[in-house]
Amino acid sequence: MNAPTSSAVLAPTVKLLIGGQFVESKTTEWRDVVNPATQEVLARVPFATADEINAAVASAKEAFKTWKKTPIGARARIFLKYQQLIRENMAELAAILTAEQGKTLPDAEGDVFRGLEVVEHAASIGNLQLGELANNVAGGVDTYTLMQPLGVCAGITPFNFPAMIPLWMFPMAIATGNTFVLKPSEQDPMVTMRLVELALEAGVPTGVLNVIHGGEMAVNAICDHQDIKAISFVGSTKVGTHVYNRASLNGKRVQCMMGAKNHAIVMPDANKEQTLNALAGAAFGAAGQRCMALSVVVLVGEAQKWIPELVAKAKTLKISAGTEKGTDVGPVVSCAAKERVQGLIERGVADGAKLELDGRNPQVAGYEKGNFVGPTVFSGVKPGMSIYEQEVFGPVLCLSAAADIDEAIEFINNNPNGNGTAIFTQSGAAARKFQEEIDVGQVGINVPIPVPVPLFSFSGSRASKLGDLGPYGKQVVLFYTQTKTVTARWFDDSTISHGVNTTISLK
Ligand code: NAD
Repeated sequence: MNAPTSSAVLAPTVKLLIGGQFVESKTTEWRDVVNPATQEVLARVPFATADEINAAVASAKEAFKTWKKTPIGARARIFLKYQQLIRENMAELAAILTAEQGKTLPDAEGDVFRGLEVVEHAASIGNLQLGELANNVAGGVDTYTLMQPLGVCAGITPFNFPAMIPLWMFPMAIATGNTFVLKPSEQDPMVTMRLVELALEAGVPTGVLNVIHGGEMAVNAICDHQDIKAISFVGSTKVGTHVYNRASLNGKRVQCMMGAKNHAIVMPDANKEQTLNALAGAAFGAAGQRCMALSVVVLVGEAQKWIPELVAKAKTLKISAGTEKGTDVGPVVSCAAKERVQGLIERGVADGAKLELDGRNPQVAGYEKGNFVGPTVFSGVKPGMSIYEQEVFGPVLCLSAAADIDEAIEFINNNPNGNGTAIFTQSGAAARKFQEEIDVGQVGINVPIPVPVPLFSFSGSRASKLGDLGPYGKQVVLFYTQTKTVTARWFDDSTISHGVNTTISLK
């Protein structure tokens, strides 16, 4: 995380949301929000003080008293309205996102849209938050469950999906009857704040949604605050592991979606043109800054001969600002990110991988100051090399080879991460073997970025995830609620008394 800075020319400030009011922070620590294509300072984001964080949590705690009793239909209707407002403001949201994060305008719309799908899901909370009932489990006894909200919940989000990931969190938490404190990424909080404004316009009541900004101190304060019951975190493995350990020790429910190294297997029988297009899109789209980006491709047998065509495809991609028509690869988020990615490319060469395409320091007319790294391809990549061991989070594709599918599956399962994976093949038998044997949460069959729609839950395994339940889908309803099991018997005058029962059995 970069240290807070302050810009010479004072840009507009990003506000906190506490008790239904957008307020100016009283902090002395600020950081610039910078357009990664131009270095223009778009805004200044505060690092909230301890008092402000406490005030946000107190506001959420107070609001919970009434929000938890709000009828489920009233909660659902807010999200019906909210999805409409997001649709109506899609172009503006995408423009804000592109300006502060760098991804192309169509991809920014995709970012908002994948979050919008979760808002639609939240609007059907009536069907999702149903308990169960077993009638007559003993004479005149019924057992049923209530799924009750927990209280104040919190969300901590990363820079790479500043619309989708906040929308993974607060809509489902609030729809299930909780109140929320959100801490967006300090690198690109502006689109998140616009989404928060729209949520209030849709009818989210005072105090039900609060926003604080900051970095390590704010995150630690959330992990430690006694009034916060559950935390949803998305970000790097290092920070996620810290959040999980610290918040769990404080007795909180925690889910952490973390870093990745997503592998694809290409079988020689795959549809070549479709596969090469899918690989290039998934490796270099969003400048490789997706947790589900394909960063390693294992070429099986004859597919190893496809490298020149894959490199040729990568060379056709247009590198420019996300606002320019036809751009395929925008800038990475910050100067520090660019330096890091270029440093890893250097280490890849030093470690002995073959640099098939070097994307370092591309010339981008009109955007000479932008944080651009072009598509980069390495072949001969092996475990132990830094470009393989680390999550590059840039447009860098590593190619490895395997003799057959068993070797390729073993290679992937030996990597500690388990976020996403894909196989490209025309063989149903190979695809089925892959889905059964691969130890990764999200599996694609001829689908390069298999992010599930919200009817299902985002998953992840091994080093990519901590906590049992995923964000959105059915699992998140369990995450944000406490199941209460009620066993009830009602006597009427005709009930026959069996006398005193000193056993554990229900009669
Ligand atoms: P990050 O871990 O640096 O930041 C995530 C959040 O943690 C931010 O809100 C940030 O302010 C906070 N933070 C940063 N440093 C901290 C520290 N030292 N102590 C406490 N809090 C701290 O992640 P990022 O760079 O914003 O996002 C990219 C990472 O997120 C990648 O590793 C990517 O794979 C991962 N990611 C995972 C998923 C998933 O679903 N598995 C989705 C998106 C992103």
